[in-house]
Amino acid sequence: MTITRFAPSPNGPLHLGHAWSAIVGHDRAKADDGAFLLRIEDIDGVRSRPELADAFRRDLEWLRLDFREVAPQSQRIATYRDAADSLRAMGLLYPCRCTRTEIAAAATRMGPDGPVYPGTCLHRPIAPAPGVVWRLDMEQATDLCGPLTWLDERRGEQQARPEVFGDVVLWRKDAPASYHLAATLDDAADGVTCVTRGLDLFHASHVHRLLQALLGLEVPVWHHHSLLVEADGRKLAKRRDAPALSDRRLAGEDGRAVAAELRHGLLDTGISFADTLFQSA
Ligand code: GLU
Repeated sequence: MTITRFAPSPNGPLHLGHAWSAIVGHDRAKADDGAFLLRIEDIDGVRSRPELADAFRRDLEWLRLDFREVAPQSQRIATYRDAADSLRAMGLLYPCRCTRTEIAAAATRMGPDGPVYPGTCLHRPIAPAPGVVWRLDMEQATDLCGPLTWLDERRGEQQARPEVFGDVVLWRKDAPASYHLAATLDDAADGVTCVTRGLDLFHASHVHRLLQALLGLEVPVWHHHSLLVEADGRKLAKRRDAPALSDRRLAGEDGRAVAAELRHGLLDTGISFADTLFQSA
């Protein structure tokens, strides 16, 4: 049975790009008589606004998407901690106290998420203390796992290249686990068989594949869908005030019709689908 999920972060209202993502996940699961899950990714303590989660549920209902909600990330922290402990016990995590500015100044290459960490703290003795993050020793981790592949339903088999990210942060100081660790563990725990999400997260799947190998998790397939972009080619974004689904819902628009338009590629003026690989925001 195909199990897909939609995993929004409650740091701003959902917009048409989210509706598209949810529709892709929903329709992919339902085509196989499968299940479509909603998971609220609410562990970003700084930006998370828990009151938005209820609007997300109403938005999916408004679009007439049949979903089953699973535990939000805030209820899964013990699992994240256990996984980080195992990776630490394997000698694959190291503490780091570099600031963003220090990293930007010392980095010698760019990765999908910006400057790649140059490994400054890798051989420094750093006491694990509040304010310290934990990074994955990418070289050791990839050596341990050997070559890995993963399958994107739309783009075919991929060689995993997690090294493009360098030593990613897996344990944060402001939110417990990083997106990479939390989402990978959740997808496995929720039995997700097909990870549907936007092309902006395509490269993240390299890291997720590596974490699955390190932690002995089931490996799903991926389906990275096209993104909705504005006339200037930039993707719709909460922080650039893309119109909220909840405003359209509360104004009495018909959500079923909005979903049908998206499925048929009939987009609002100035918005189009883009099928190119984007860097993560
Ligand atoms: N929580 C992420 C977001 O809102 C989605 C992560 C994912 O689908 O893997 O962008």
